[in-house]
Amino acid sequence: MAKDFVYQGQRIGVVGAGFSGTVLARELAQAGYLVTLHESRSHIGGNCHTERCPQTGVMVHVYGPHIFHTNDAEVWGYAGRFARFRPYCHRVKATAQGRVFSMPINLHSINQFFGTSLSPKEAQQFIAAQAIRGDEAPQNLEEQALSLMGPALYEAFFKGYTQKQWGCAPSSLPASILQRLPLRFSYDDNYFFHRFQGIPEDGYTALMGRMLDHPNIDVHLDSLANRDTARRYDHLFWTGPLDAYFAHSHGRLGYRTLDFDRFEVEGDGQGCAVMNYPDAQIPHTRVTEHKHFAPWETHDRSVLYRETPRYCGVADIPYYPVRLTTEKALLSTYEHLAAAEGNTRFLGRLGTYRYLDMDVTIREALDAARAFLRGQSLAPQLSGAA
Ligand code: UDP
Repeated sequence: MAKDFVYQGQRIGVVGAGFSGTVLARELAQAGYLVTLHESRSHIGGNCHTERCPQTGVMVHVYGPHIFHTNDAEVWGYAGRFARFRPYCHRVKATAQGRVFSMPINLHSINQFFGTSLSPKEAQQFIAAQAIRGDEAPQNLEEQALSLMGPALYEAFFKGYTQKQWGCAPSSLPASILQRLPLRFSYDDNYFFHRFQGIPEDGYTALMGRMLDHPNIDVHLDSLANRDTARRYDHLFWTGPLDAYFAHSHGRLGYRTLDFDRFEVEGDGQGCAVMNYPDAQIPHTRVTEHKHFAPWETHDRSVLYRETPRYCGVADIPYYPVRLTTEKALLSTYEHLAAAEGNTRFLGRLGTYRYLDMDVTIREALDAARAFLRGQSLAPQLSGAA
């Protein structure tokens, strides 16, 4: 590490060792800057952190399932420089009203649910006849769902799940959340519609560990940072919660957090990586069986997580930003404050308070690093190893 190096150029601080902070640190270190990274937890990897369960040997996605999928060939290639990605196709099932269905909604789930044997064209006409469309474009998640699939599928698969996931009525949520999921009139049950999909063979933490393995990067774990941290650096990249940087001075941005109820079984617990539970009367949203994320491995025992979302309290881990009306006003206040911070840039899911997938996070970090490097008039002083 570069601890003893007397640096004569600009000092770069990065806060947060998730994908945003890790990619940024790597790119700037490689361009010759000395980077100090502060991570408040005792491990790197952010919420993508993976670790092997010592009892079962299963690679566990400690903060919930993470499947890497993207259309961005550069990002896919970039991530692949730091890990061997194994082919993986995410196929989700849903237990609804006592029966198991294929997700996302596809021709199989439609025929299962309605007890039909429709062809793609027939199914399209059948669903179109149920769709409820207003004159204007859908304004919220509920309108979006009703206009796409009609009330029967919406109520069975989306209404309860969304209510549990976000803790509010689907009619108060943005339609964009649902745009994450396809509705298909074929038997394609791949959860994602991206060109590239895979899981790093030895986990996301090992991948990010290799990104940070650079002589110009100094990683500090268990290191709390705040606005004063910025004073120690010529430039600070903050990927922690935006409101935390300002000590929540105008209030707290709302998040959903997740409770994981962990259990182990002998053999195979549910036969797939993720089983969703959209019924409103069941408190959890899904059960993840981690060993199915690594079908190339064999394990006698299995680790499962029952996942229950709830409001994120002060001491909880923030997962999903809730962008409702009150949050939007507060967000705008913090965004104005952020724009006035001379030497701090805000990045990533927590730093910009957005629901981001891993590939978008990496793309934005790469772009931010490049923009920073383009904007620097002073040549960096260190010559980094590639
Ligand atoms: N969703 C749902 N039922 C499901 C799966 C998803 O209603 O069985 C809705 C829900 O509102 C969720 C959103 O679709 O927040 C996005 O789902 P995704 O699987 O992308 O969520 P993530 O894996 O990011 O938690």
